[in-house]
Amino acid sequence: MKFLKKLADFLKFHQVRVTIASPQKKSIMKKLLLHDTLSRKRLEIVPEDGNKFRFYCCGPTVYGPAHIGNFRAFLAQDFFRRVIELSGLKTLHVRNITDVDDKTIRESIKSGVALKDFTDGWTDQFHEDAKKLNILEPHIEPSAVDHIPEQIELIQKLIDKGNAYISEDGSVYFSVSSYPKYGKLTRIDQRDLKAGAGEKANDADEYEKDNVSDFVLWKAKKIDDGDNYWESPWGDGRPGWHIECSAMAMKYLGQTLDLHAGGVDLCFPHHENEIAQSEACTGKTFSQHWFHNEHLMVEGNKMSKSLGNLHTLADIIKKGYNPDELRYALLAGSYRTKLNFSFDRMNEARINLKKVSNAAHALGGIDSYEDLCAIAESDSIEMGLFESSWTALLEDLNASAALGELFGSIKKLEKRLVNDDLSESDKKICRQGLSVIVNAFGWTLPEPDSLKESVEIPKDVKELAEQRWQAKCDNNWAESDRLRDEVVALGWVIKDGKQSYEVEPVK
Ligand code: AMP
Ligand code: ZN
Repeated sequence: MKFLKKLADFLKFHQVRVTIASPQKKSIMKKLLLHDTLSRKRLEIVPEDGNKFRFYCCGPTVYGPAHIGNFRAFLAQDFFRRVIELSGLKTLHVRNITDVDDKTIRESIKSGVALKDFTDGWTDQFHEDAKKLNILEPHIEPSAVDHIPEQIELIQKLIDKGNAYISEDGSVYFSVSSYPKYGKLTRIDQRDLKAGAGEKANDADEYEKDNVSDFVLWKAKKIDDGDNYWESPWGDGRPGWHIECSAMAMKYLGQTLDLHAGGVDLCFPHHENEIAQSEACTGKTFSQHWFHNEHLMVEGNKMSKSLGNLHTLADIIKKGYNPDELRYALLAGSYRTKLNFSFDRMNEARINLKKVSNAAHALGGIDSYEDLCAIAESDSIEMGLFESSWTALLEDLNASAALGELFGSIKKLEKRLVNDDLSESDKKICRQGLSVIVNAFGWTLPEPDSLKESVEIPKDVKELAEQRWQAKCDNNWAESDRLRDEVVALGWVIKDGKQSYEVEPVK
């Protein structure tokens, strides 16, 4: 209450007085619309079985620490799951662990540690980081090594149906020409396909689009693989990378999934190959919906282990930032747009999270994710002033619009509080609405500011800072610079965010 009084004093000082209509009372039981990579359309998120929305995410390849680019993918998936659950649906979320492939084997042998011990260590590290980032645990987390029989069974079915063949060395390949719809996800030109397919079978787990070819399902044992092989009807060997996701996804989610997710780099060849082998086997659509997040970039390049330009969560924490600030920064843009990582973004995240925290504090706190999902399942949640932010999220997770709306609504809220123009029941609704947005983004909020700092800013500094912000918004750069210098001369510094600014004493 003390906080509200100070907030009121602060805003009255600026003679801010507005009248705003009553918070709207609307339901949040609307459906999320998400872009589908295959159809290039926005599709409504509805569970096929009318019960649970069943989705599969390609998980981490555990041969080193996941970098924050990988976490952009896992956060985007966490984000849509949260929005789905907060809109009243249940989900069944499967995310695998890739613990056998070219890279895990190569790196475990290099480090002289048995594959299982090696991948277990990196899996634990991944779990720790994911927890710090407040990523919801998947309901099922199967690993490739624990599902060798399921993969062998699937490969055998493909051989029996004439979609796969055994080579002389005991490897098994998928015959791309046996599946006429090959390439439908990434729209590979049929002529390219004919030229490439069948000419030279491809052994590598990863390859480029101009190398379309029969791809490996089972790799015959090689000396380089060390002890990492399993028995199969075709001799000792190990599964290729693509087959694991088809086998595990269909085991836990059935032959047709509601949605399949991964980073955009997985479209080809991984997801294209998953579609081909799954649909050739079942004759059914493998996934109703394909969700792909764009890349996190560093200076124009994709952040990746192979380019060596990566940051891990540990690096970010060492630089003095916390996982919530990273979470904010990675979710702030559209998931379908490349995002350039920078520490300016992290600073912006810090400022904005403080603002949200102050608003939450003024409303008496944030309701828990579990409580909100429980309400959403049986009833509609009223969003009050935060309806527009939620509406933006339902439109293909438009995070930038949702954040713009959120900070606009927080301003309105502050004015209503100052004018004492919010009944207890309105406040309760607004608290619920803000809680939905905070939980959709999955933030744990920092301690709120005490307003003391703000009210102690001298009047002339505040006025100059406000005039300077206006000049900046009007693209009047010369005036904006001049006013900033005046503020600095008075011993204060202006820190800009995208939507607003803060004034602090020069340290
Ligand atoms: P991996 O551990 O390499 O199997 O990748 C795990 C997930 O991270 C996959 O969904 C990738 O598509 C995704 N990914 C890899 N690099 C990036 C990046 N720079 N930005 C966004 N997602 C990425
Ligand atoms: Zn996969």
